[in-house]
Amino acid sequence: MPRLSEVTAALDALWPPALAEGWDAVGTVAGDPDAEVGRVLFAVDPVQEIVDEAVKLGADLLVTHHPLYLRGTTTVAADTFKGRVVHTLIKNDIGLHVAHTNADRADPGVSDALAGALDVRVVRPLVPDPADPAGRRGLGRICELEHPLTLRELAGRAADRLPATAQGIRVAGDLDSTIRTIAVSGGSGDSLFADVRAAGVDAFLTADLRHHPASEAREHAPLALLDAAHWATEWPWCELAAAQLDEISDRHGWGLRVHVSRTVTDPWTAHAASNPAPLSTFGAPN
Ligand SMILES: [Zn+2]
Repeated sequence: MPRLSEVTAALDALWPPALAEGWDAVGTVAGDPDAEVGRVLFAVDPVQEIVDEAVKLGADLLVTHHPLYLRGTTTVAADTFKGRVVHTLIKNDIGLHVAHTNADRADPGVSDALAGALDVRVVRPLVPDPADPAGRRGLGRICELEHPLTLRELAGRAADRLPATAQGIRVAGDLDSTIRTIAVSGGSGDSLFADVRAAGVDAFLTADLRHHPASEAREHAPLALLDAAHWATEWPWCELAAAQLDEISDRHGWGLRVHVSRTVTDPWTAHAASNPAPLSTFGAPN
């Protein structure tokens, strides 16, 4: 069995930590570099439910997309929820390793996995990494559809192919408009509107779109918007990452058992559709 340090070195080669944003906190959060690793679990969020799943599975390493601590802390006491996560990991000899914005920027990265889930062909990064001469690394991806779809059909495809969440897919735009090109970005994407506009695509699929950036983008140009749950846009990367580690394990004869958590950790748990009746105010008589 490989040691944790060998596995994390292989993960760092896939998603070089130097690609991470300056504010990010990536790399190994918990774990003894000399500990042996036989079973690995991939997930989006390092929350207690996921750590409990890792314990049940007998995992030696949990790899998550989101960091446990993004800022400094002065306590890992188990009466804080993050401290409890740390205690559970250490008591059960489970390492935690994070690949966040380095996995966003990598080739292949989080948005490649999202494009793969949507079955659209990646053309180039939305925001290319100037340090990559091949022009494949960067944030988001610009993609082409094999056959044009209406926005209605594309939204249906996103709802079918991304993992199910309470939110589903929010859509802005003419449902009968034709979509040939789409920008995709896993996670919160509303800081990328200027790049999306410059790319001249027909649609943008991301998560966490806020009122003002979305409204202004719609006023600027006839851009269709598809807003999925944050977790759902990043989960496809877990499957891609697990396949990548599986392949490395085979190449080295490590015999790793690699798993992907199917637990939905999107914080939103229900969606109440609005009443389709005409707008009325505060129970005014009709
Ligand atoms: Zn995210």
